[in-house]
Amino acid sequence: MAMSKAVLLGNGVVVAGFSPSGAVQPRVIPGGAVVWRGERIVAVGTEAELRRQFSDAEFLDACGGLILPGLINLHHHFYSALACGLDPGTTLSNFTDVLDRLWWRLDRALDFEAVRLSAQLSVADCIRWGCTTVFDHHASPSCLAGSLDAIADAVEAGGLSAVLCYEVTDRNGRDQARAGIEENLRFIRQQSGHPRIRGVLGLHASFTLRDETLAEAAKRRPEGAGCHIHLAEDPVDVKASRQAFGLRPVERLERFGLLDDRCLLAHGIHLEPDEYVNLARKNAVLIHNPESNANNAVGRLDVMEAANHGCLVGLGTDGMSSAMLRALRAAFLVHRAGRRDPSSGFKALPDLLFNNAKVARRFFDEPLLGELAQGAPADLIVVDAPPPTPIGPENLFSCLVYGISEAPVRHTVARGRLLLEDFRHRTLDPNQLAARARQLTPALWERFGALKSGTNFLGD
Ligand SMILES: [Zn+2]
Repeated sequence: MAMSKAVLLGNGVVVAGFSPSGAVQPRVIPGGAVVWRGERIVAVGTEAELRRQFSDAEFLDACGGLILPGLINLHHHFYSALACGLDPGTTLSNFTDVLDRLWWRLDRALDFEAVRLSAQLSVADCIRWGCTTVFDHHASPSCLAGSLDAIADAVEAGGLSAVLCYEVTDRNGRDQARAGIEENLRFIRQQSGHPRIRGVLGLHASFTLRDETLAEAAKRRPEGAGCHIHLAEDPVDVKASRQAFGLRPVERLERFGLLDDRCLLAHGIHLEPDEYVNLARKNAVLIHNPESNANNAVGRLDVMEAANHGCLVGLGTDGMSSAMLRALRAAFLVHRAGRRDPSSGFKALPDLLFNNAKVARRFFDEPLLGELAQGAPADLIVVDAPPPTPIGPENLFSCLVYGISEAPVRHTVARGRLLLEDFRHRTLDPNQLAARARQLTPALWERFGALKSGTNFLGD
């Protein structure tokens, strides 16, 4: 095999990683450059030095922008891509309505083509906003078996890394719950050696899962495979779990042995202090989704409080968008608005993106994922935000939330492959995808309109 040519990305400011507060700070290198060969980064340093060292490397121009590690999204729903502009035709007056009258009708209306197209559109959006690793949570009860393969194909074609799962639930009956478990297990095994696309066990939420389903899922879960579940997004999860099973959601997960360091818990808003302590003790992962929580008016996770109890808190978008830097800015603004304190937001929140990298490493055999360092996978982006003010490790977070988060992404590189070059997609064609989606969506929305709401949480 011919040795692939080195690529030198220069003329920018390198930010080698996101900082954990109070610990080692990331390197910020003005006039910096990154060199990769094949899928791996081979050097990070000043451009002058690296140009001497790699004189025959191909040059990629960052045009003065910021060179960052590829972003990571811990909670997404690709299947929601065709819901934009959809009129539910009824009032959504609480969280249960949002699920029952919107999402649980949309997911049942999906066919394979809609699943595939939604995934392709979402993957293109991830690329557009510089996300190179994404954790998706999928549901399509009318085309369940094989749906994760359709999504994996889109991820593969786009060039991203992903951790996929199917949402197991009892709300569509016992057979569907079993089929969901099978789809997860099949996919986890099939992908176990894959370098970029892995499976975990997807679960909807405590209040739509019967004991026997949780027990079966826990028993059959392969060693080391994590689970990905919604937790206390709304008080209904807590209340209904207590009512039906006599336990709060965290206690139920613990009882079935599902709480461990690969347990991904989206939201975690309506928990009590002892539950945060419990999650921290198990090293489980809480995922903050500020934009989605605001949209559903379900309250907000107090990231600082959860972190003060020792919880590891990461960041996701919950299908609202694929723009992680914008989600970080939303987390910051929602935090301040909630606290009514203009001095707050600089504790715990700067850790979110750093924690995302820490979490993603648990699911791939990549100890350097999420940073720019020699030997790390060549997952990197250029944000088109030439810094107008001094930038360093000490003010990186404030530069991110006040400026950089609003800028478009110029280049997205994943495993050394250019997916977006000078704002243009190289692997997927979003215009073509949008055109196909416009043809397909009316039929999808028509199927949606014909479906009834009124689903029982635990099936009939
Ligand atoms: Zn979600």
